[in-house]
Amino acid sequence: MTFSRRTMVGLGAGLVAAALGPALRVARAQPAGPFTLPPLPYAPDANEAAIDARTMEIHHRFHHGGQVNNLNAALAGHGQLAAMPLDQILMRLAEMPETIRTALRNNGGGHANHTMFWVIMGGRGGEPSGELAAAITRDFGGFSQFRERFDRASMGVFGSGWAFVTVNRHGGLAVVQRPNQDNPLMDGERVLMGNDLWEHAYYLRYQNRRAEYVRNWWNVLDWSKIGARYAAAKAGTLTI
Ligand code: MN
Repeated sequence: MTFSRRTMVGLGAGLVAAALGPALRVARAQPAGPFTLPPLPYAPDANEAAIDARTMEIHHRFHHGGQVNNLNAALAGHGQLAAMPLDQILMRLAEMPETIRTALRNNGGGHANHTMFWVIMGGRGGEPSGELAAAITRDFGGFSQFRERFDRASMGVFGSGWAFVTVNRHGGLAVVQRPNQDNPLMDGERVLMGNDLWEHAYYLRYQNRRAEYVRNWWNVLDWSKIGARYAAAKAGTLTI
């Protein structure tokens, strides 16, 4: 196991110093990988209406953080790939070296999925407005139908995976499911929003009650952030 500087910051320098002792100096000399764990864009208890602070902290720091570390580890020694943006890596998985393709799929997918997931929360729920609201009415018949459709997808994810809304260049929306940490970019589609249905996302508070988590999750969405992603998709600037 390797400890990057970010890992140590994440774990708390004191704790790591106690655990590693003289290894610290060596770890600090290691080059940083191309990808970094983005800080949560709000306090860990900002989504308390749906997700408790402890779950947010563990999920962000260790699940997402671990994927970033593993992604960087997979890219070590692959100089050219390390310079590629994440969305390009995921869209061109089939071209990636076979020896690291699965690592890129799981950890690169996980990095993209979680980065999106943090960004679209931190809000107060409600409903979208403007162009996104119009697109939802056009493609699903209305917000309540859209929500029903998405909830069905969320509840239907068997095992670990995600429910996503994809958005195409013309603003067309679709609800899809993906297993594990797969991301629709792997099929050439871009993500507007998505929910993490891995048990680690909700188990501390909800245990087996996924429906309750899925219901509460709508109350912490930030539709201004999702609306910005929608505008970016139409402008061709949405990445992960
Ligand atoms: Mn997760």
